Amino acid sequence: MRRTRKVKILATLGPASSDEAMIAKLHEAGADAFRINMSHTDHALMRELVGRIREVEKRAGRPIGILADLQGPKLRVGSFAEKSATLKVGQDFTLDDNPAPGDESRVHLPHPEIFDAVEPGHRLLIDDGRLQLEAVENNGGSIRCKVIAGDRISDRKGVSLPDTDLPLGALTEKDRRDLDAVLATGVDWIALSFIQRPQDLAEVRKVARGRAALMAKIEKPQAVKRLAEIMELSDGLMVARGDLGVEMPLEAVPGIQKQITRACRRAGKPVVVATQMLESMISAPVPTRAEVSDVATAVFEGADAVMLSAESAAGQYPAEAVATMSSIGNQVERDPNYHDIIDAQRGAPEPTGADAISLASRQIAETLHLSAIITYTSSGTTGLRAARERPRVPIIALSPVVETARRLSLVWGTHCVVSEDASDLEDMVDRACRIAFEERFANPGDRVIVTAGVPLRTPGATNMLRIAYIGSDGLGAL
Ligand code: PGA
Ligand code: MN
Repeated sequence: MRRTRKVKILATLGPASSDEAMIAKLHEAGADAFRINMSHTDHALMRELVGRIREVEKRAGRPIGILADLQGPKLRVGSFAEKSATLKVGQDFTLDDNPAPGDESRVHLPHPEIFDAVEPGHRLLIDDGRLQLEAVENNGGSIRCKVIAGDRISDRKGVSLPDTDLPLGALTEKDRRDLDAVLATGVDWIALSFIQRPQDLAEVRKVARGRAALMAKIEKPQAVKRLAEIMELSDGLMVARGDLGVEMPLEAVPGIQKQITRACRRAGKPVVVATQMLESMISAPVPTRAEVSDVATAVFEGADAVMLSAESAAGQYPAEAVATMSSIGNQVERDPNYHDIIDAQRGAPEPTGADAISLASRQIAETLHLSAIITYTSSGTTGLRAARERPRVPIIALSPVVETARRLSLVWGTHCVVSEDASDLEDMVDRACRIAFEERFANPGDRVIVTAGVPLRTPGATNMLRIAYIGSDGLGAL
């Protein structure tokens, strides 16, 4: 399967997309990687989902990335007897420590630390701020609130407390258990929610020991302030606009999105733009104009990936949402202004062989109208540096390590192929040409660029750039 789209699509799995047939359908419609939201998925289901994705991967013959998203210190209300309740502005509504199912007057709040910290007058924002409560009285085991705005609350909706100082670390007990479980199951990326400090990442890195790449979700003002340090310790970032838009003024979010995507592009680390990208498609087969424009903006910014949340996890049109995102990506990338806009934010190369060769590859490929840049990358680093250049021609990343190929599924413009290491220089060029031909990126007579670090598997040793012709038999010829 060959996609021409450079921006990747990360689709969240959920009740609307848990069976293998639907996962396959989403992959076919354009999903490059899947997110498993550990806020809503138990370990048994997580393992089943991973198994189903790996089945789809095997049948499609393409590496698929799996990102497990840890809940983090996200506060949520409990469940309702009727799954939801309808409230009226001005009425009283109580959050308490009673685990009984909720109704129109009260619901369980399973976070003792909130009862210790909330004071009268503090705001409690439920469901990304759709329901706004104000604390009237806190007696230590129940907080009586007044409904200020909104009228609906349902099972396990999030609670933000912008006025309350909560003493919370990066990983809850649940996160630690989830982290062990997802690492043991072999996911490719782990997303960390509500991180505030670089130490939060250092802590997880110690547990992960390289078994998965780490994505820091930027969704708190504290994390925006320390972006550079957090990025240093992350393998990628997510612009988590849902909670960011609750914790910060909504009108600040577009600017922060630009700040984060630019910082990631400079660093050469993948960035995912997330939340409410095609929100109306939860219940409609077509998006709004504003949503299309929002996805297009992320693509024009050169984001590595755009994400679907409830649209693919719980909506009525999961495959249509993926297909819509895919067409927007394709269309924007064909826009006559696209390359100028993308090129304007390209970072200068760092003084390394990988960057010098990535820059040269892009220039040569664009000057000579070559068909592809083919890069041997065992750890993925050279693939990332090639993608950082945002070349117009496709990047084919060849890695003997399937985990590398899967991780790169979130990286802009990389088409990854798992391939054994070449035995010598000639084999390296032949193999690269054959794969470019087989994967339908190049035809006999076309030219491609091959880059590698020789000897292979020496990290950081990218030192070779070769222009090769695709021979009539699909192999390299000079
Ligand atoms: P969530 O993260 O969907 O886990 O809340 C994304 C966001 O906050 O935007
Ligand atoms: Mn969030």
